[in-house]
Amino acid sequence: TEADTLLEVNNIEVIYNHVILVLKGVSLSVPKGGITALLGGNGAGKTTTLKAISNLLRSERGEVTKGAIVYRGERVQDMSPADLVRKGVIQVMEGRHCFEHLTVEENLLTGAYTRTDGRAEVMKDLEMVYSYFPRLKERRKSQAGYTSGGEQQMVAMGRALMSRPETILLDEPSMGLAPQLVEQIFEIVKAVNEGEGVTFLLAEQNTNVALRYAHYGYILESGRVVMDGPAKQLRENPDVKEFYLGMS
Ligand code: ATP
Repeated sequence: TEADTLLEVNNIEVIYNHVILVLKGVSLSVPKGGITALLGGNGAGKTTTLKAISNLLRSERGEVTKGAIVYRGERVQDMSPADLVRKGVIQVMEGRHCFEHLTVEENLLTGAYTRTDGRAEVMKDLEMVYSYFPRLKERRKSQAGYTSGGEQQMVAMGRALMSRPETILLDEPSMGLAPQLVEQIFEIVKAVNEGEGVTFLLAEQNTNVALRYAHYGYILESGRVVMDGPAKQLRENPDVKEFYLGMS
């Protein structure tokens, strides 16, 4: 039902540098408590969609020129990324982005910067993060720059969790990771979704894995949604099989 929709993207256009039209009317809705996947090939517009939602386009000379982005019934497209974090929406960017010179634990603690509920609560959440990422607990004193790609992806996700988000926008978590690690990362997404009730909107080129963990999927091509449906239905769709799952 409508009441269960947390995030609504309604027919947005995004233009870079005043001329390059990249999103040509994208609509999607993200239900509370779900895992929603944004799929499509390189350059389809997945990252742009996530950045439009979290308001990170400005630094790249991009802007939403049409349509609306609504979170919990409130228009959010003129808010700063930090205001959005306070509203409960945080983006984990593609390519991890750790503070390389800080330890794993210091990186996680930076994620709590918007919080005002005191050290005891923050330390409790650090333990919560470690319960989902036992590997990070083992590595907590290591300098983040010297950890593996998979560990850095975990740091980026753990840091986002430290803001106690309601919704995480997760950009290409599988990027550059070996298949076994990809599976591990998605298992953690599922565990956090189920254990903490965090809502996920994730962008993925790896359609196969994304559709096994997501509840619903949208497929983007050249800045338009060309197909959407429950993940199970998409997995069985002949066109999706042929063009996105690599088996006909
Ligand atoms: P990827 O998996 O490569 O991130 P994507 O589906 O996330 O792909 P986007 O990164 O959103 O796609 O890019 C969509 C289109 O927008 C591409 O054609 C890209 O070249 C263009 N684009 C992205 N960023 C900019 C920018 N800052 N200025 C101009 N064009 C851009």
